[in-house]
Amino acid sequence: MADSMNPSENWDDIRYRITRFGLTIVVMAVCFILYYLGFFGTYDGPLNPGNLGQALDARGVDKAHIAWLFMGMFGLLLTWNWIYNAATLLKGKRLTCPAQAPDGGCCGAGVERRKLDDAQGNRHTRFICENGHVSASARFHPVKKGPWSYCMCLALALISGMCVYWI
Ligand SMILES: [Zn+2]
Repeated sequence: MADSMNPSENWDDIRYRITRFGLTIVVMAVCFILYYLGFFGTYDGPLNPGNLGQALDARGVDKAHIAWLFMGMFGLLLTWNWIYNAATLLKGKRLTCPAQAPDGGCCGAGVERRKLDDAQGNRHTRFICENGHVSASARFHPVKKGPWSYCMCLALALISGMCVYWI
């Protein structure tokens, strides 16, 4: 990467480093703040587990509420892309043309879904791309979860699994 002659690639590399550096700083800052709020139990702040427990009790929040919260977050993280994909599929978005392109590959242009009437007056759904192909079906490109999404999902699944005993 460093000896690359392509300036845009070099710039991408720099941007990647800056982003990573920025993230490290943010994570460190959050850790410091949490530390001084007593989150790790080593400092007597408002987030000290003991004080936090008392504050939550005072507000009528019990362990079951927290268990439900974690399970809700897990459900949301697990299903957000399924819900998003179902909605986009219904709206006819994220679809591309499956027709064969002149170079032997797939056309892959964006398509528009239309209802067309044939000679017998029957309605058919057709997908029309900007290159003029008309297809009976289209390729759907679902949004997939990234590795971070899976990690968060797994972590929340474990936390939820442990919290089940609180209900
Ligand atoms: Zn096409």
